[in-house]
Amino acid sequence: MSFDVLRTLCSTPAVGGREEAFRAVVHTELSPISDEHYVDAMGNAFYRRKGKGTNPRRIMIAAHMDEIAFIVRYVTKDGFLYIQPLGGFDPRTLVAQRVLVYGRQTLPGIIGIKPTHFTTAEERTRVTPVEDLFIDLGLPGEDVHSLVKVGDCVTMERDLIQIGNFYTGKTLDDRVGVYTMIEAFKKFAQSDDDIYAVATVQEEVGVRGAKVAAFGLQPDIGIALDITIAADMPGIEERNWCVAMGKGVGIKIMDSYSISHHGLVEHFRTLAEERGITHQMEILPKGGTDAGGMQMSRNGIPVITLSIPCRYTHSVVESVHKDDVQATVDLLVAFIENSTAFAV
Ligand SMILES: [Zn+2]
Repeated sequence: MSFDVLRTLCSTPAVGGREEAFRAVVHTELSPISDEHYVDAMGNAFYRRKGKGTNPRRIMIAAHMDEIAFIVRYVTKDGFLYIQPLGGFDPRTLVAQRVLVYGRQTLPGIIGIKPTHFTTAEERTRVTPVEDLFIDLGLPGEDVHSLVKVGDCVTMERDLIQIGNFYTGKTLDDRVGVYTMIEAFKKFAQSDDDIYAVATVQEEVGVRGAKVAAFGLQPDIGIALDITIAADMPGIEERNWCVAMGKGVGIKIMDSYSISHHGLVEHFRTLAEERGITHQMEILPKGGTDAGGMQMSRNGIPVITLSIPCRYTHSVVESVHKDDVQATVDLLVAFIENSTAFAV
């Protein structure tokens, strides 16, 4: 486990459609250990390790690069910025936060909030919608207008830290998925099948990159790596937890974008049991992953998602348990090294 690699992944910006800086970080990690790599027209990055078998299949592992973020929608005369969300932030978590604005230079900023002294009782109980939030860069209007233009990217600003057994910060969705993909790709000794690590674009705006990536690659099996909701916290009944922190990798049965291939679910469950890898079966009532995009490509592709349990998703205090991250890497490596044990 490399905290430094995960921290770099979490802090490198990738707004939907503008994943290039992050793709360069992925490239540094994966290109030295790949037999072949390329980027498609949409920006999905493919890394292949050739299989040793006589008739290797293509196995696509997908993790998305983009984070929930914003682009600048409007700049006021006085230099305040209004923003357009790309992905589903909870507006309750956004006020009084620091952001980074990627204009002609990277500018730190803050999401402002009207002073409590000037708010009405009604305003204090109401959540400010994203379209009404504004960013203050601490600069005169004319300076802002020369540095920032409509369409520039904006991300939250929050460093990854360790608390207890957790890693916590922004963008663990899906940087921890990208991290597990990189770790597994580095770790597996060999496979009979061709293994493709695919860093996808534009997942948070509707699973767009994975759909195109799967159409181009035409894999025999698709495995998405993403976080899922760990709702094991005060105020939520245990039957609604979905998964729990520290209880292992989530083997997804379904979410609202895909129903995992039944044979793959049973294969992964058995594999985890045999290898003694901590795991939990996951049903997510709302939300989805790149598996949804891969599954409906061409004639249909058998897919599954391996999920990393995450508390406080889509906020700047997203948290994952370090043992769950390791369990995800271990299960993926176990599958890859003996992939021909699974036949559709
Ligand atoms: Zn995600």
